[in-house]
Amino acid sequence: MSQLKYCQGPKCHTYDTKDRKRGPKDNKRNETRRRSSFFYLDGHACSMICERDWFEVYGSRALDHFGRITQPKVLTQENAWRKRYDWSGDRFNNHNHYVYNHLTEERRPITEEQYQNDNTITDDGRLNI
Ligand SMILES: [Zn+2]
Repeated sequence: MSQLKYCQGPKCHTYDTKDRKRGPKDNKRNETRRRSSFFYLDGHACSMICERDWFEVYGSRALDHFGRITQPKVLTQENAWRKRYDWSGDRFNNHNHYVYNHLTEERRPITEEQYQNDNTITDDGRLNI
């Protein structure tokens, strides 16, 4: 059983829904949603609204904390690789896997294992085979 966690939306408790209501008639209150899993804010917010609220309050501070982009990031021939495949349409459902360079339009065939391997292309788009 996974543990329950609270939605991290700073205004979650202010949205008036039945599932947020707690307490007896004379002491009603609304509380932050608590669930075993959430779909928003990488699993930390109950709704797109709470995700947005979090960003409005903490977004700039998060950028300051992790560092802003202060000069352009550049896509060059070295980091323009992506994995792709063509439907071959044969009866074995084999696909033609390849790496593709967005800038040079070069295609190089790869195996299905290389296609499935996360290390074939680095996170920043460099070919690693
Ligand atoms: Zn929420």
